[in-house]
Amino acid sequence: MLFLDQQRLDPTPPNYTLAYCFVTSPGTSASREIAELLGDGLRLTQEAADDIISRHGLGGSGAAALDPENAAAALRHQMLRLADITSSQSIATAQFQQGLSAGMARIGGGFDDLSTIISSMIALAANAERDLAAAAVETDRLRQDLDAARTDANIDALTRLPNRRAIDAILSKLEEANVPRTLAFCDIDRFKRINDNHGHAAGDRVLAAVAKVLGDACHGKAVVARWGGEEFVAVFEHMAVGDAAVVLESARRSLAQKRFKVRETDEPLGIVSFSAGVAGGIGPNSVISAAADARLYRAKKAGRNMIISAGVEHR
Ligand code: GH3
Ligand code: MG
Ligand code: MG
Repeated sequence: MLFLDQQRLDPTPPNYTLAYCFVTSPGTSASREIAELLGDGLRLTQEAADDIISRHGLGGSGAAALDPENAAAALRHQMLRLADITSSQSIATAQFQQGLSAGMARIGGGFDDLSTIISSMIALAANAERDLAAAAVETDRLRQDLDAARTDANIDALTRLPNRRAIDAILSKLEEANVPRTLAFCDIDRFKRINDNHGHAAGDRVLAAVAKVLGDACHGKAVVARWGGEEFVAVFEHMAVGDAAVVLESARRSLAQKRFKVRETDEPLGIVSFSAGVAGGIGPNSVISAAADARLYRAKKAGRNMIISAGVEHR
């Protein structure tokens, strides 16, 4: 340490503690005493240093934390921790690694420069942390871009639900694996009127809202996709038709409670509802979806805002 060099004091643990106290805590009585001596143009003799050390209790066990042996061990542990962080994140800045090696080498050669080394290690650690944080942000952004690029082909832009292409792929796999499944076609009632009366922008918002209600009600139970236009499909794996109908019934009720308004005019849109046809089985998707479609047709005929999941289809 420069202070010990200037005063020509040996780098012993008590001298180091004294110097550390003087450099880092100028307000303490020991530091003020040293400053007074130095202010008189005197060099701090070992005798004067010993006197201050003993009177201010700087040489005892209370100063253990400042002992260079302990400080070096703590610093070494800190370095090892930081080295762990960098390697675990697979990011090691060349500068940080060089700094660690240089610091280790210098500590190995003596303790006189410990405070300088600690400062430079702290600066290097801060740099490394900043670089790691920046790298993490960048990695996250790249991952999101990648996810977006991957999913966009399968996601409907308006509702953010899986699109027809995505659900077709899912259905094909289920059919191939003979997975028992239930399909529900859900079609918004009198949707054309909403468009006609309030405009397509309002219609789009209603579509997105219905998608959300369906998605929320089916969360963890079915995959809901936009089948096309104002029609959605829910695919329940290993679920009986009756149980799937209960889930859809909860969606129907929660939609009935919503009071939609036209955003621009605050004009009420009235109650929005959907009708659904539900059918299940283990056979081909075409057979199951034809049955579900027929039940949806019946629901529309029977007055809309209802879910039909049983009965013989006559079209
Ligand atoms: P029903 O109760 O018999 O289903 O009547 P409906 O009016 O809902 O059915 P119809 O098939 O006559 O009309 C569907 C309308 O949905 C026609 C179409 O313009 C509208 N539509 C389809 N896709 C979109 C969309 O992405 N945005 C908006 N705003 N309208 C859409
Ligand atoms: Mg329709
Ligand atoms: Mg409709």
